[in-house]
Amino acid sequence: MNQKLKGQIAIVTGASSGIGAGVSKELAKEGATVVVNYPVINGKEMAEKVVADIAANSGKAISYQCDVSKEDQVKQMFADVVNQFGTVDILINNAGLQKDAPFTEMTLDQWNFVIGVNLTGQFLCAREAIKEFLRRGVNGKSKSAGKIICMSSVHEVIPWAGHANYAASKGGVNLMMKTIAQEYAPKNIRINSIAPGAIATPINHDAWDTSEHLQQLLKLIPQKRVGQVEDIGKAAAWLASDDADYINGTTLFVDGGMTLYPGFEDNG
Ligand code: NAD
Repeated sequence: MNQKLKGQIAIVTGASSGIGAGVSKELAKEGATVVVNYPVINGKEMAEKVVADIAANSGKAISYQCDVSKEDQVKQMFADVVNQFGTVDILINNAGLQKDAPFTEMTLDQWNFVIGVNLTGQFLCAREAIKEFLRRGVNGKSKSAGKIICMSSVHEVIPWAGHANYAASKGGVNLMMKTIAQEYAPKNIRINSIAPGAIATPINHDAWDTSEHLQQLLKLIPQKRVGQVEDIGKAAAWLASDDADYINGTTLFVDGGMTLYPGFEDNG
């Protein structure tokens, strides 16, 4: 089998569940060795299950505990991975969470918590990854000196009442991604985002758990199905591969058409 990421080392943050777990499995299928990052709150067990699933498919992975919002822990994670595997080729900046509240009731703690993980966490991980890419340069495993995929959201462009902290974090990811892509493209580093629509994971369980909720949700999706983690995983594996070598600084929307103004569908 011609594996697109053979021999490459990938760190996937927030990979013990949902999209991160799905992306880890697809990267491993394409031959990458995957570091399945998880935070303290989720425990080792879920991450180890992802590692075991990958191993059962003849893939390679380890689990690694690190809170991406903590600078010292992020630096330690990159140092340990480079020490164990020699380098890092791919960063999937995926860890993210929500703390929803009407705007006037949103506490500073809720604001800071979401920005801290979803935006500052992506900054800290991207910074360490780029330092390693610059140190190493192109290494023969890929045309690029390194690849970063930031997990954004359709809410980098669609406003979302009651989720100001989350939408602001994803809007921030968009311009951080584009800025660092511009800054490091001359060094042959590729940085892009994936913006998922509604993907069935623990983060949005309430949106599809009953048929009533599901029908409401499907009104927002022209393609009339909820996305699965494999939809994102396959897109990420392709975007990280040399098949996407000339793609830099862009957001790939993987959303079944959610950003196509679905309210206009029946408005002829
Ligand atoms: P999820 O809750 O299953 O995954 C989020 C992961 O992030 C969890 O495994 C969690 O443990 C981890 N995490 C949280 N805080 C962390 C920290 N401080 N350090 C390290 N890891 C941490 O939900 P998901 O849907 O898989 O979300 C993954 C990403 O996709 C998020 O960035 C989310 O915003 C984005 N996203 C999801 C959807 C969707 O519909 N599911 C849509 C758009 C964007």
